[in-house]
Amino acid sequence: MDKSQLTIMNRSFTKLNQRREVLLQDETTINLKERVKKIRTNSIKQLSLLLEKAEKNLIDNGIEVIIAKNGDEAREAIHQLVKTEDLIAKSKSNTAGEIKLTEYLEENGIEVLETDLGDRIVQFDKSRPTHPIGPACHLDMKNISKIISCEFGREIEAEPTAILDAVKTDILEKIPHCSVGITGANSVAAEDGSLVMVHNEGNISLLTMMDLHIILVGIDKLVPTVEDAISVVKLETIYATGKKVPAYMNVISSPSKTADIEQIILKDMYGAKRVVVVFLDNGRTQALEEKEKCLWCIGCGACIVNCPVYTTLGPEFGYLRHLGGKGIVLSHFIDGEVSYDSGLYKCTLCGQCTMECPVEIPINDMLEDLRKESVKEGKYPEEHGNIRNNIKKSGTPFK
Ligand code: SF4
Repeated sequence: MDKSQLTIMNRSFTKLNQRREVLLQDETTINLKERVKKIRTNSIKQLSLLLEKAEKNLIDNGIEVIIAKNGDEAREAIHQLVKTEDLIAKSKSNTAGEIKLTEYLEENGIEVLETDLGDRIVQFDKSRPTHPIGPACHLDMKNISKIISCEFGREIEAEPTAILDAVKTDILEKIPHCSVGITGANSVAAEDGSLVMVHNEGNISLLTMMDLHIILVGIDKLVPTVEDAISVVKLETIYATGKKVPAYMNVISSPSKTADIEQIILKDMYGAKRVVVVFLDNGRTQALEEKEKCLWCIGCGACIVNCPVYTTLGPEFGYLRHLGGKGIVLSHFIDGEVSYDSGLYKCTLCGQCTMECPVEIPINDMLEDLRKESVKEGKYPEEHGNIRNNIKKSGTPFK
C-alpha cells in the first residue's frame, strides 16, 4: 500500500472518528455497550451448546445447515452448491475473505459479482480491503474513477454520483443472470434459528431474493436470541459507521413461504427457495480453548482506526480480511504459521485497540502471549535476537 493510499485511508478514519464521537458519549450507547459485552461473553462461554441449538432450530425452520471444520470443507461445500453456475452474486463478507472463497470459485470457472460498491471497486482494483465495513477507504474519487474507467473501457467522471451510477448499472445488468446469492451474517440467534445481517446499500436484500441463498458465517457469531443479535448489530453499526442504525437489517429465519391460503404453508413465494447456512469453525474451537476473548469480536473494526501500526502500514498488519491485531490473534488459530507473517512482532503493545474495542477484547495482552509462545519455539525477528544477545553480552542493546 503506497503512502498516498495510507493518507486517504487515515483521512477516512478521521471522518469516522468524528462521526462516532458524539454517539459514543450517549448514555444509550454506553448502556448498549454493557449489554452487548455481557451477551458476547456469555455466548462464547456456551458456544458449543449454541451451535447445537442453532443447527436444530435452523433445520426446524427449513434452513439447511452445513458445519465446516476448516476453509477447505467450507469452500468445497459451497462449490458443490454452485458448481453448475457461471455467475453468482455476493455481498461483503470477512468470513468469505478468510477462506478466499471468491478466488476459489473463480479458479473453478465461476465468476463472482461483488455487489457492495466498495468491494466491487476493490475487486476491480485487485487491492486489499482496508476496513471491514468500508473496504475501499484507501481510494479517493480520482483513483476510483480511473479504476472503473479502465474496467468499463470508457471515461467515468471523478464525481460520486457518476461513479455510483456506473457501478450500480453494471451490477444491476448482471443480477438477473444470478440465481445464487452468497452473504455473511452479522449475528446468529441460536434459539430462534434466525440470522441477522445489516447493510446500507440494499444489496443483501437483492441477494436474499435469489433461488439459493448461501450464508457463510463463523461459529463465533452465535448468540442466544434475536433480541441479542439485534443489540449486537446495533452496536456494531455505531462503532463501524458512526450511525445509530443501519439502513437495512434483514432477519432470515426460513426460505420464502406463505400461509395465506387456509393456513396451508406454501413455499417459494418471492424470496429464496432454498437457504443454506455454512457455519465455519476454522480454528475457532481451538481459540475458544486458548484465547476465548478474541471470539467476543463483533466485527466493527474499531480496533484498527486508531492503531498506530495499522494506520502506518495498512492491511499488511493483519490476516486477509481480519485486519489489525485481532486479525493476527485469530490467524494464529486458523494457521499457526501465518500469525508471525501477519505482523505479530510489528505490534507496539500500546493497548489502544483494547481501549477502542466496544467489548474490550484485550488484544495487546493476547498478542504478547502469542509472542512469548513464538519465542519459545525460536521464532522471532533476527533484530530482536541480536538485541537480546547484545544485552546478554554487554548489558546494553547496542553492540
Ligand atoms: S496494541 Fe498493537 S494492535 Fe493494539 S493498537 Fe497498539 S499497535 Fe495496534
